[in-house]
Amino acid sequence: MSLLGPAEIRELADALEIKPSKSLGQNFVHDGNTCRKIVRTAGLQAGDIALEIGPGLGSLTLAMMEEAAHVIVVEIDKRLADQLPITVAKHSESPEKLTVINRDALQIDSLPVDPTVLIANLPYNVSVPVFLHMLEIFPTLRSGVVMVQAEVADRLAASPSTKEYGVPSVKAAWWADVTGAGVVSRQIFWPVPNVESKLVAFTRRATPGDEALRKRTFAIIDLAFAQRRKMLRSALSARYGGSAPAEAVLSGAGIDPTLRGEALDISAFVSIARHELAIGS
Ligand code: SAM
Repeated sequence: MSLLGPAEIRELADALEIKPSKSLGQNFVHDGNTCRKIVRTAGLQAGDIALEIGPGLGSLTLAMMEEAAHVIVVEIDKRLADQLPITVAKHSESPEKLTVINRDALQIDSLPVDPTVLIANLPYNVSVPVFLHMLEIFPTLRSGVVMVQAEVADRLAASPSTKEYGVPSVKAAWWADVTGAGVVSRQIFWPVPNVESKLVAFTRRATPGDEALRKRTFAIIDLAFAQRRKMLRSALSARYGGSAPAEAVLSGAGIDPTLRGEALDISAFVSIARHELAIGS
């Protein structure tokens, strides 16, 4: 299958009168080798249903069509969503494998088919919420690769007690093991972005508990990182009615109350949430 190069990307954009929108993070990839590499990294298996958020002009979509049993895409921009089946019919031998949904990815809570792999060059301004939302609503997602701004990639894949570690790292770890998967040259985009991009790969693992426990755990995480430089007993004092009760809850959960949130991995945050439940807090 022929993929989209710089000439095709410009031709399509001109024909659709598309001026790439910064607020929608529209930077289109025009390098087929990079698209094929991203799809290879995602490790698609026979029968996989691949989900792409923000297919744009279809660069990555066409590479996904070569490998996946079915490709489902969610694109917010109607002009791009309407054009995609036409582009795919021109380039793919099996255009029926594509389903296009013209919606905001943050607003969806189901799809006509449950995806098993996520592959996306995510819109930069909403990359973390979109990534976490997909992990949350599709337990069927087994693995995937997303391209994001380099700093965001470092944050998503960070380990505790590093300067990159924060809310995105610890929340993503509820659902998945997340690792860095390489740098992408900014020259493969049109328009060329101001920031570097990186790939992030993930593999789902068993979640530590149900949705009620997740929500409780995430509320504790948000508080712990809202005052990142503070010790946990102080950062969580409002939740427990003072730093002495906070210290008691933390100690009861087996967590040193003088630590900062950035020292805790997801299982430590889960221990606090479980202890809250056990003591009826
Ligand atoms: N996948 C294409 C590529 O690699 O060339 C385009 C990637 S571009 C970085 C991001 C795409 O996401 C754009 O097509 C944009 O219109 C779309 N987009 C932005 N916000 C979105 C949202 N909330 N939901 C769905 N798509 C969105």
